[in-house]
Amino acid sequence: MHCPFCGAIDTKVIDSRLVSEGNHVRRRRECITCEERFTTYESAELVMPRIIKQNGVREPFNEDKLFAGLNKALEKRPVSIERVEEAVNHIKANLRSTGEREIQSRAVGEQVMRELRELDEVAFVRFASVYRSFKDLAEFRAEIDKLSKDNP
Ligand SMILES: [Zn+2]
Repeated sequence: MHCPFCGAIDTKVIDSRLVSEGNHVRRRRECITCEERFTTYESAELVMPRIIKQNGVREPFNEDKLFAGLNKALEKRPVSIERVEEAVNHIKANLRSTGEREIQSRAVGEQVMRELRELDEVAFVRFASVYRSFKDLAEFRAEIDKLSKDNP
């Protein structure tokens, strides 16, 4: 951390405390060269696992892509953008809580289906039919049957 006053490279931490419910660390620093003091805030970078695609290629988790996928399934459905954002946050929290550094794209797909089922049945069926691409038709039918049983 360069000194914002003189640009010196060496600064020392003179005080350090947790702020905003422990999510940030506030540090008072002093420049060794010019002795000016300044404050920095640090927060943990929340690392998302990398995604292993079906062809084995790894790619960084892409929140925009996830959001776009949900939105596409929810096109013209009566679901607010706030609820879609909530769903994205659920999925991210679930993926992080696995503690895995890499995660199969299929597992992400399953998460999306779970969220969509809560949000909107039509969107769920749309997504599921594309996502599962008739690979396991029996399982897909079972999901549909479950839906109609849940909501007679
Ligand atoms: Zn300085």
